[in-house]
Amino acid sequence: MNSFENGNFEGLGLIQPLMRALTSASYETATPIQLEAIPVLLSGYDLMGCAQTGTGKTAAFALPTLQRLACTTPGGEHSTGEAPTNGAPAGNAQRQGPRPLRCLVLAPTRELAAQIEKSFNTYGRFLGLRVAVVHGGVSQVPQVRALQRGVDILVATPGRLLDLMNQHVADLSKVEVLVIDEADQMFDMGFLRDLKRIVAKVPLDRQTLMFSATMPDPISELAKQWLFEPKYVEVARVSSAATDVEQSVFHVGASSKPKLLVSFLKTNAVSRSIVFVRTKHGADQIVKVLTNSGIDAVAIHGNKSQNARTRHLEQFKSDRPPVLVATDIAARGIDVHGISHVINYQLPEVPEIYVHRIGRTARAGATGIAVSFCSPDERSSLQDIERLIKTTIDVNDSLSELTLSAAEQKQRVTGGGASSSGRSNGSRSSGSSRSSGRSRSGTGGSASRQSTRGRAGKPASNQRRSSSGDLVRS
Ligand code: AMP
Repeated sequence: MNSFENGNFEGLGLIQPLMRALTSASYETATPIQLEAIPVLLSGYDLMGCAQTGTGKTAAFALPTLQRLACTTPGGEHSTGEAPTNGAPAGNAQRQGPRPLRCLVLAPTRELAAQIEKSFNTYGRFLGLRVAVVHGGVSQVPQVRALQRGVDILVATPGRLLDLMNQHVADLSKVEVLVIDEADQMFDMGFLRDLKRIVAKVPLDRQTLMFSATMPDPISELAKQWLFEPKYVEVARVSSAATDVEQSVFHVGASSKPKLLVSFLKTNAVSRSIVFVRTKHGADQIVKVLTNSGIDAVAIHGNKSQNARTRHLEQFKSDRPPVLVATDIAARGIDVHGISHVINYQLPEVPEIYVHRIGRTARAGATGIAVSFCSPDERSSLQDIERLIKTTIDVNDSLSELTLSAAEQKQRVTGGGASSSGRSNGSRSSGSSRSSGRSRSGTGGSASRQSTRGRAGKPASNQRRSSSGDLVRS
């Protein structure tokens, strides 16, 4: 079942090579954020997108960006968008000399950056544009070589990009489209200073796209500074849990969690699952517990080498996947189809993270199951999550020999006040956990829009940006 209110790609104004790539990727209908964002971006507007992963936001920004690069030369003239037979980038067809870097995408984690690069290659496969990714944790030598050969689109994590900029390997002076993905996560990871340094080096005359699942104050401040009269597109707010995830919670003593995990994995039809834990050490311990119980498991977290992370991810994507035990940071950007179960071994302290986690399953309209192990000391985190998603998560009363009875739950909550989810009735009402994924319209008539923007993405002449990259009016 597909729960998105999807629509047609036809009529969005995408050029044939992109439509062909979408057909090859078996994309039949556009997701809500694609329907909203693509026309806005093709008209050259800046965009603030409030959307979580799993909504199809990568294609929402990659498709119009590829089209812009294919249909215009770096100087701004239009070309046909068809890839020339010599394999040169379509938009650069008439141009001699090295390729300038025209689009920069910034992402918080290596996995997400690699995923975005892959998406650009998938959607742009008939365009002949060059895409590269740079991130830490691996040798910079191939990255430097790729940049020296020339790329049209660069996907980067901030730290490695700054290193390469400092070595004068990455030149941002010709960037026309700047995409800042998962801005809130960049902020959480302490990348704000790096981000500001990078944005200051991107030309003022650019199209800027910012995506963020949540909108903390520092992010809305940056959006005000860096985006010019942006259109807002908001899809499946983070406070609404991913569509079609069947959620339930086990109330369990902390010491019983390892046994509960093993039993759950052995007694349920779990085909591909991620177990979320709070710490790297905890992740390694759980892998040991599972392995000792005969369950194949691997951990992915920040202390693992990039090679190990990549290898484990490949194993996880295979037909016989091990259980993937992950910390939240490492799990960002993991985009694997067919994840049947997300298991919150520990509840996150930040309730929005719960929504991100369970969004790993039920991607692009599929269905999935999310279970959480809640020990008495985590009860307030559960309440925060339920408040955020405006849903009472059903109690899972299977495996009751390992979980706390309703009476025990009440006893063990200091000061009483068991959450409403502490009831013993385990009947599911998964429909109530679902959101409709409705979006707020950011599109309007494109004709008037184009007249105020000149060529796609070029701000009108009465705007300029300060040297810090902030937009000011002249
Ligand atoms: P994203 O939110 O960009 O991380 O995308 C989530 C997943 O949905 C990715 O695996 C995409 O390949 C997939 N996807 C994105 N758009 C579509 C679409 N229109 N039809 C089918 N799958 C899609």
